[in-house]
Amino acid sequence: MECLICRSVTENGCLAFCGAVICGECEARLMEQTVDEPGYDIQVQAFRLLWQRQFLAARDRHLADGDHV
Ligand SMILES: [Zn+2]
Repeated sequence: MECLICRSVTENGCLAFCGAVICGECEARLMEQTVDEPGYDIQVQAFRLLWQRQFLAARDRHLADGDHV
């Protein structure tokens, strides 16, 4: 599995959700991070992209279901 934020390969994802994994290092950083710190935007963006993907995938599923009705 590849860490969502730093892209490093992590064997044991400390945090896994929505099919994505965040390594222990990044998880710790996220927990400690405040909005003012550099790098926060990048991490927020990574999360936003993930959520967007999940949202679009869910929407596409609904559209596909609609086709069959
Ligand atoms: Zn990481």
